[in-house]
Amino acid sequence: MRIKHYIQPIAVFLTLNIILIGLLVVVERETISQTKKNYRYIAANQSNIMRDSVDTAIARVYTFSALIRANNGKTDFFDDQVEFIYKEISQDSGIPVKNVAIAPNGVVKKVYPLANNESLLNFDFMDTSREGNDEAVKAYKEGKVIVTNPFNLVQGGVGMAGRLPVFTKKNGKTSFWGLVTVTLDFDKMIQSFHLNNLEEQGVNYKLWYEDEKGKKVTLTTSQKAVEEPVSYEFDIQNLRWHLDVAPKEHWHSRTQRTAIIFVILGISLLIALLLVDKIKIRNVNEKLEQLAHLDSLTNCYSRHYLNTVLVNQKTGEWNDPRAKYSLAVVDIDNFKNINDTYGHNVGDQAIRAVVHVLQRYVRAVNGDCVIRQGGDEFTIIWNNISKERFQKKLEGIVKDVEKIKFSEYEEMYLTISIGGEPYASQGSTRYADLLSKADKKLYVAKENGRNQYVI
Ligand code: GH3
Ligand code: MG
Repeated sequence: MRIKHYIQPIAVFLTLNIILIGLLVVVERETISQTKKNYRYIAANQSNIMRDSVDTAIARVYTFSALIRANNGKTDFFDDQVEFIYKEISQDSGIPVKNVAIAPNGVVKKVYPLANNESLLNFDFMDTSREGNDEAVKAYKEGKVIVTNPFNLVQGGVGMAGRLPVFTKKNGKTSFWGLVTVTLDFDKMIQSFHLNNLEEQGVNYKLWYEDEKGKKVTLTTSQKAVEEPVSYEFDIQNLRWHLDVAPKEHWHSRTQRTAIIFVILGISLLIALLLVDKIKIRNVNEKLEQLAHLDSLTNCYSRHYLNTVLVNQKTGEWNDPRAKYSLAVVDIDNFKNINDTYGHNVGDQAIRAVVHVLQRYVRAVNGDCVIRQGGDEFTIIWNNISKERFQKKLEGIVKDVEKIKFSEYEEMYLTISIGGEPYASQGSTRYADLLSKADKKLYVAKENGRNQYVI
């Protein structure tokens, strides 16, 4: 098999690979995009829980500012009410509270619980040199609640605080009373969000924010780092936090992808190999067909060629409806004698010599051809030839065969008889009709003494 026969299978192999791998890429992208949507949903869900919890805690702290205003800035109520409100904040928000404190003019005067929070007493929130105080000043200046990012507490641990400015009205005049603050236990808060559950479910995460300098500050993260995460951005009051999530493994399974690629390669190769086989078989068949179309002795066309390619044997019609064939039947005269006198090999030579003459009278193009029907009998067909030319050709053939010489046997000579039927001379153009008429004329030529044509 030559190189060119491999081109088609290789092309099929490559095309199949390109199509199937392309399809794989599209499906994989679609799957990843769907998975990412699900992860975004997980992140959004988790973020909403965090935001709602902090918002709830802050909302409960407003109770203090309401009570301060109701008591005209007096804080006696604190000792009675604080325990109840403190518990309410924790229960409603689900976040453990480190302390709540009230700070008239920004200086802490009461704190609950006092245990472990003693250092907070008399702490001045307006002292901006201390960590976490910028937000307190901001709350006062902006007149609204400000939440801090987690910071190290003076009393130890990490907290996240809400600073609520309280304004009182006296004689129609609003003035800054001070601050109410709540400090949430950040570590316990994170625990209460059960972010670690995500990790157990195969989701890596990172909760972070960007500080004023644009630096990413990580609040909490899964043990394994998040790679190519989906990021969800959300606001808690004045804060903007980001929750990144990504699967523990890659967005797509690499082993699965490798397996699919191997399957694709395998299928493509199999199809290509089947194609190679098919082409091989086709080539062998073509060769066999060609052999069947040619006569082995003379190399002119065989009867098989006539009966398959040129003629529909069942209907007796020409296969090419546009063809205008004239037909001649040629038979060597007394050929038996040649065989008997000179032997079969010489007989073969004689057949080849006759075919040689016949071939000279047909044109290579135009559908003309010489067919060996078998033995010493031949059929010649000419396409689109006038009756006159047809007759001239038959005449020429008869004469030229007479002239055939055999160097070894000088006395040996050949003659032929021809029955010729020009195109549509009797109306019918069917092969079967032309043949039977030509056959009859051949018989007449033989009867009339041979070495002649009859049309
Ligand atoms: P006619 O003029 O009536 O045709 O007489 P003929 O002797 O030619 O009679 P016929 O056509 O019946 O004889 C054909 C002979 O051709 C008979 C056969 O032995 C011989 N023959 C057939 N095929 C071959 C072949 O392939 N090679 C040779 N050498 N002889 C063949
Ligand atoms: Mg004969």
